[in-house]
Amino acid sequence: MLYLITNWKMQLLEKELTALTAQIIAQNKKTPLPGELILAPHFSALKTIGELIKNTPLKLAAQNLFYHERGAYTGEISPLHLIESGVSYVIIGHSERRAFQHESDADVNLKIKTALQNNLTPILCIGETFEERKLGKTEIVLIRQIIRGLEDINLNEQQKLIISYEPVWVIGTGQAVKPAEAENAALVIKKVLLDYFTPEQIKKNIDLIYGGSVDANNVQGFIMPGLMTGALVGTASLTAEKFLPIIEKLSKLSK
Ligand code: PEP
Repeated sequence: MLYLITNWKMQLLEKELTALTAQIIAQNKKTPLPGELILAPHFSALKTIGELIKNTPLKLAAQNLFYHERGAYTGEISPLHLIESGVSYVIIGHSERRAFQHESDADVNLKIKTALQNNLTPILCIGETFEERKLGKTEIVLIRQIIRGLEDINLNEQQKLIISYEPVWVIGTGQAVKPAEAENAALVIKKVLLDYFTPEQIKKNIDLIYGGSVDANNVQGFIMPGLMTGALVGTASLTAEKFLPIIEKLSKLSK
């Protein structure tokens, strides 16, 4: 399945997201994405954006969730709240949360389990920092994030998992890695997954995508059928000018 996912982070106001969403809906009518187009606004805009995309093929994602459904957890957001808002996907373990909120692989693991138990599809973000890359640790980091993040997780027939390879050092820089580098990372990830899932499960239930300075000029290079099938887009998803051409480019791919 081809995925195009916006990560709108904390960048825009609800009013701005509403206008942008209308333009995305219109573009997707004109040049439909042969896959899943998913929007990830901040929590308080979920319901509004969910309403706007209600009768369209677009889907809604949250940028985080907490690993309990109810309780005295001030400031946290429950998977039940996300479902109430019409969410079907949730980004987990984004590098910004790992860096600023000190989210560990163990937290990520609990969040993935909670998402799956609540029929939310996790979009697990993994990737190495610049220092780790300089030290030649890219593969070790990816393997660790997969092993710990997916510990004790099994997928039933209906459950899906999306893994986004996001080299931390290119996020928000406007300078993506070369597709060959993303391909190497994808091969490492697929190999590790084979220790935990059957090849059939990997084929049917797990999708690998790329994130990190994706734009309309480079997006096609990161679509590698059978290996990498989508993109998580931050900066270039913040304006219609930058994002609509990405939809248009991907619309030319076959289903
Ligand atoms: C991200 O933060 O998930 C991301 C991909 O950002 P950008 O596209 O700006 O690199």
